[in-house]
Amino acid sequence: MKIFISADIEGIAGVMRPEQCSPGTAEYQLARGLMEQEVNAAIDGAFAGGASEVVVADSHAQMTNLRAENIDPRARLVQGKPRGLSMVEGLEQQHYDGMMFVGYHSAAGERGVLAHTINGRAFYRMKINGLVMGETDIYAAAGAEQGTPLWLVSGDDCLKSWIGEYYPSVDYVCVKRAISQTCAESMSPQAARDALRATAADAVRQARSKVTSRLSGPYQLELMVSKPVLADLFCLVPGVERIDAVTVGYQAEKMATIISLLSAFSYLASTQN
Ligand SMILES: [Zn+2]
Repeated sequence: MKIFISADIEGIAGVMRPEQCSPGTAEYQLARGLMEQEVNAAIDGAFAGGASEVVVADSHAQMTNLRAENIDPRARLVQGKPRGLSMVEGLEQQHYDGMMFVGYHSAAGERGVLAHTINGRAFYRMKINGLVMGETDIYAAAGAEQGTPLWLVSGDDCLKSWIGEYYPSVDYVCVKRAISQTCAESMSPQAARDALRATAADAVRQARSKVTSRLSGPYQLELMVSKPVLADLFCLVPGVERIDAVTVGYQAEKMATIISLLSAFSYLASTQN
């Protein structure tokens, strides 16, 4: 059985402050270590449950958070950017039986520790087909397009409520309680790893085939940005329409196209920091 893991940092136990997620700080060096160990716990659980192959997509910031020498040698790593499928890059290379999202977080505009969608500075709120979208939703839909269901998500209690509402068949490992956007009551990292390992093993044993997407194509993206100049920039991309001063729209048949566009938007936004 082949398993695909996408790993972010904001939803890791012990992480709740922006500086812990910003490469270059001492706090980040500690946080990436916590991320590595939760990823290793998910890998170990997947193999214990019967996985024959595990690929991990390192999916935060420059997507080079996991130090290869610290990761379980049984897994293969996707790292670096740019890459078209972003947080699930590699998923299109072969058939995977299931996906796990480790260290994920709530959507932009929602409550939750370090909640954002793809670009916290530029993207204020994102809707697709009228529904508010977080990273979990976007990449679950991308997985569904490849025929790969989402099996497990980990993060805080706010994301847990979201997953419970929209993806009731997906296992959830809740590693912290959100007190505010930048404050949490967290499980110990060790306890979070134990829970992840056990839940990952169980998810692989169950190997559910239920498709996990909130929506199907065609996809109508509606993106509200944090300032008008960003909408000006994003409209330079052919096919992007201006809805109002701070909102742009785009229609695509495939979620993969939306993901690629959002990555391009994010690079364009970096010119305005
Ligand atoms: Zn992140």
